[in-house]
Amino acid sequence: MSADTLLEETLIKRSQQKRLTSPLNYKERVFVLTKTKLTYYEFRAEKKFKKGSIDLQKVRCVEIVKNDGVIPCQNKYPFQVVYDTSTLYVFAPSYESRRIWVQNIKEEIRDNSVIVAKFHPQFWMEGVWLCCRQAEKLAPGCEEYNLFGDLSRKLLPPIPGEEGTGRSRRPPPPPPPPPPVHSPDDGSGVEEVVVALYDFFGPEPHDLTMTKGAEYVILEKCDINWYKARNIYGKEGYIPSNYVTDKKLGNLEQYAWYSKHVNRNKAEELLRTEDKEGGFMVRDSSKPGAYTVSLYTKSAGEGGAAIRHYHIKETSGCPRQFYLAEKHLFTLIPDLIEYHNHNAAGLVARLRYPVGKERSAPSTAGFSYEKWEINPCELTFMKELGCGQFGVVRLGKWRAQHKVAIKAIREGAMYEEDFIEEAKVMMRLTHPKLVQLYGVCTHQKPIYIVTEFMGLGCLLNYVRQRRDTFSLGSLLSICQDVSEGMEHLEAHGFIHRDLAARNCLVNDALVVKVSDFGMARYVLDDQYTSSSGSKFPVKWSPPEVFNFCKYSSKSDVWSFGVLMWEVFTEGKMPFEHNPNHEVVMMVLEGHRLYRPKKATPNIYDIMLRCWHERAEERPSFSQISILISDALEVDGSSAA
Ligand code: ADP
Repeated sequence: MSADTLLEETLIKRSQQKRLTSPLNYKERVFVLTKTKLTYYEFRAEKKFKKGSIDLQKVRCVEIVKNDGVIPCQNKYPFQVVYDTSTLYVFAPSYESRRIWVQNIKEEIRDNSVIVAKFHPQFWMEGVWLCCRQAEKLAPGCEEYNLFGDLSRKLLPPIPGEEGTGRSRRPPPPPPPPPPVHSPDDGSGVEEVVVALYDFFGPEPHDLTMTKGAEYVILEKCDINWYKARNIYGKEGYIPSNYVTDKKLGNLEQYAWYSKHVNRNKAEELLRTEDKEGGFMVRDSSKPGAYTVSLYTKSAGEGGAAIRHYHIKETSGCPRQFYLAEKHLFTLIPDLIEYHNHNAAGLVARLRYPVGKERSAPSTAGFSYEKWEINPCELTFMKELGCGQFGVVRLGKWRAQHKVAIKAIREGAMYEEDFIEEAKVMMRLTHPKLVQLYGVCTHQKPIYIVTEFMGLGCLLNYVRQRRDTFSLGSLLSICQDVSEGMEHLEAHGFIHRDLAARNCLVNDALVVKVSDFGMARYVLDDQYTSSSGSKFPVKWSPPEVFNFCKYSSKSDVWSFGVLMWEVFTEGKMPFEHNPNHEVVMMVLEGHRLYRPKKATPNIYDIMLRCWHERAEERPSFSQISILISDALEVDGSSAA
């Protein structure tokens, strides 16, 4: 390395595709940065051959390239150097390497007079800019270019003679970021880097907009739902924690092929719908901590398609290693998937197409960090969705684009002040199987409750309207969704108090979510709240509730058993020929709901366990989720 070399590293360079028809190629080159030039060499027989050089004075922009596609070379961290009328794409081997190159070149070109105002954040590929779809290579950029925007860079020492003279052309160095209140630093000094799983459009100025696939540094974990983060340009703001995942090795959530919450039945449904040879997904097995690969092949003999489920097995030694059908051992699951992407090696097909990653982004805990009061002027009202205990529910939009359900609380129907106090706690309950509370409008009458919109309405009507169309697996999947939502409430010590099919909702992706949790406490109606009242949900209540109003997660479990029964009868009324007071007597005498025709003895056994006379003998929701997963493995793929 010569004395004036600032950086030297082997990187990969993309051919510059001067003519549209010339194919792209990717070549290893030794890149050398000095104070005046960026030069690249071919390294052959221990010797460097100069292949090209860029005069830094002519560089108009250097920036990372945002990318959602596949990068066809082994270095996965692209950046761009725009000079004259050309763009050079270079691929670094790591996030850190790219950061160093971009930062150092930026430092060297900061006084250039030719810096662009706007640039293209994505690749020029096959005659089009992928970011803005403009088909003219010299088309002006589509995103503002901020040469000095990277606050994360280390500040350069002042240039001797320039301090305090006021003559420097350099902008003043940015102030160091304030120390985080709760540093996520684990003491190792290594920053926690996450990857965005979805786009997030930061609605408030203090939020940070995120792009799917991009990386962010976590600065502070404000609460379980919101983090303060920094993007690669140095911009900081709040992001929802459920939109990102750790970039750590071995964290499967960053991969398109991993679908954590998909069970065997759903996996089969998704693979069949996609209908692609080698379609596959990796999902959590019913056995905790284990993984299953579900794989679809169109040619399983006799022209039929088939789905196979393979457990990813582990060796017992240390370090443990993973393998599939044959003993090709890997320390990391992503390496195992990569191997079987190229080699069937005993599997029914190669793992060719990842299927099933949730496409729509999950709900956030409120629209922004610490925001529960919603400005009613930002709501537009659309059609009526239904009417409940508290009043009319309408479909609406927040800020003209985000679909929501808006419940206008009828005068005298609710203990409003108590609810408003509790709303802040409820908003923090965020789970894919719970209907999200987004916020409230409380500075007016009627007050509004704004929640996630669920396109297919309440579960009770959903199963009634589609009677006889469900497979056994689909009915179990519905129960599993509810159980998972309830597991989250149970884990947070939150009691629903009115769990029933009428209080669950279904969205357009057929996901069932628990709604109205805890709301029974705010009902101002004796007929509903008194156990002898006509609206009291006696048929969903265990003895300790209708006798002593003793609510617990275990009383929710009893109600869940009744909900399961509603699902497997596809919407029948429990004890349909008996009034409430008779049901009380019957249940106290040990009488229970009958086994629905569609429930196997195994499934009915789960219901009976929920209806154990003694609350402490009933299973918890986490046990119920396991029982249902097991039932799905055993009965799930057979037709109802
Ligand atoms: P209440 O809590 O006042 O009793 P509900 O929550 O039962 O009201 O809502 C009444 C009806 O409105 C439901 O049965 C359902 O059809 C519709 N509804 C309620 N919330 C939503 C929502 N988030 N998305 C779609 N429809 C909804």
